[in-house]
Amino acid sequence: MTTSFDALATRILEGGSATSEDALAVLQAADSDVMAVVAAAGRLRREHFGNTVKVNYLVNLKSGLCPENCNYCSQALGSQAPILKYSWLSKEDTLEQAGAGLRGGATRVCMVSSGRGPSDRDIDKVVEMTEALKDEYAGVEVCACLGLLKDGQAERLKAAGVDAYNHNINTAESHHDSIVQTHTYDDRVDTIGRAKSAGLSPCSGLIAGLGETDEQLVEALFALRDLDADSIPVNFLMPFDGTPYENTWELSPIRCVKILSMARFVCPDKEIRIAGGREMHLRSMQATALHVANSIFLGDYLTSEGQDALTDLEMLRDNGFVILGMEQTAFDEIIAAHQDAKAHRVGAVTPCGSSADGCGDGCGGGCATGAARATDDAGQSGHNPSIRRRGAGTEVPANA
Ligand code: SF4
Repeated sequence: MTTSFDALATRILEGGSATSEDALAVLQAADSDVMAVVAAAGRLRREHFGNTVKVNYLVNLKSGLCPENCNYCSQALGSQAPILKYSWLSKEDTLEQAGAGLRGGATRVCMVSSGRGPSDRDIDKVVEMTEALKDEYAGVEVCACLGLLKDGQAERLKAAGVDAYNHNINTAESHHDSIVQTHTYDDRVDTIGRAKSAGLSPCSGLIAGLGETDEQLVEALFALRDLDADSIPVNFLMPFDGTPYENTWELSPIRCVKILSMARFVCPDKEIRIAGGREMHLRSMQATALHVANSIFLGDYLTSEGQDALTDLEMLRDNGFVILGMEQTAFDEIIAAHQDAKAHRVGAVTPCGSSADGCGDGCGGGCATGAARATDDAGQSGHNPSIRRRGAGTEVPANA
C-alpha cells in the first residue's frame, strides 16, 4: 500500500488529480498504513506550502440566539448548551479581541456572527470594524463569516477591505437535510458564489462526524474542489451536551488524519485548515496532522475553549514549522513572551483566591490553572467540549 499512496502523490505532482476512488482508498486505508498516507500527502503539502502554517484567530462577534436549527451547533435554535450568549461586540471590543490574536501569533482574523445572515445594518458594523482593523494592523487579513448573503452585501464587504468570506457547506449535499432544516444546501452554495463573484476569497469546509458515510465525505470534498474554495476548514464534530448530537463520538485520531489526508489529495494546493475539534479528536496526532494540513486556529473556538495558545505555538516550532507571513525572529519572540507570561502566572493568586498552580477546578476564570484544565478537557474524546468563558463577550483575557 505504501507504494500506491506514494504513486498517487507522484501522479498528482505531475499534473494529475485524485479520483473519488483514490479518495475513498485514502479514507479506508488500514490503520497500519496511516504513516504511508501521511508521507505521501505530506509531499503535496510541502510542494505547495513548504513548512509554513497559516495561523488564524476567531472573534465571535455575536454568540448564540440563532434562529437556524443546525443540529451540530451549540448556538442553534433549541440548543440547551450553556454557552456564552451576547449580541454584537462593539468596534472597540472587536479591535481588542482581534489585537490579542494578532499579537499572539495569528495573521488572519476571522470575524464570525451567529444568525441566518446579516442585515444591511450588520454589514455596516462589519465594514466599520474591518476598516478600523486594517488601519491599526498593517497587513492583517480579514475573513468574515456572517451567514447567508443578500444582494450587494459581499460587494460592500470587499470594498471595506475584507479579504475572504467563510461559509461552510458542512457536509455532502446528499446528507445536508438531515443536519439542518431551516436552510438548504443550495442556499449555502449560493452565498459562496456571491462571495466569489464579489472578489472575496472563498473559504468553505466541512464537519466530519455527523453520521455521514465515507462516500458522503468524499462527495463533500469533491464539491469543495468544484466550488474552488481557497481555504478548506475541516471541523470534527464537537458534540455539545444539549444539542441533538450530544454523545455522538464517531471519530478517532487516525480517522481524522485520514480525512485531512484525503482533503490534501483531492485539493493539493488549497489551504487545508484543521478547525474545530482539533484537540478533542486528534489529541496526540495534532502535529502529525500538520504534515498534511497547513493551517490552524490559534487558541479558542467560537463557543468552546481550545488548548492554550503557547501549546499551539510550541507545537508548530517543535515540529519544524514556521508561521506563514511571519519572520522566524518574530515567531521566537512571541513564544518567549507567552513563556514569560506563563511563568509570571504560576504562583500568582487567581480571581477565585486560590493559587494558580494548584486549584484544578477549571472555573474558566482565565488563570493558568483554568487554561490547563481546558486543555485537558479539550484533549479527551468522551468529554463535553469545554465551554468558552474567556475572550470575546467576557471580561477575562483571551487565550491568544
Ligand atoms: S451554524 Fe450558524 S446558522 Fe447554523 S445554528 Fe449555528 S450560528 Fe446559526
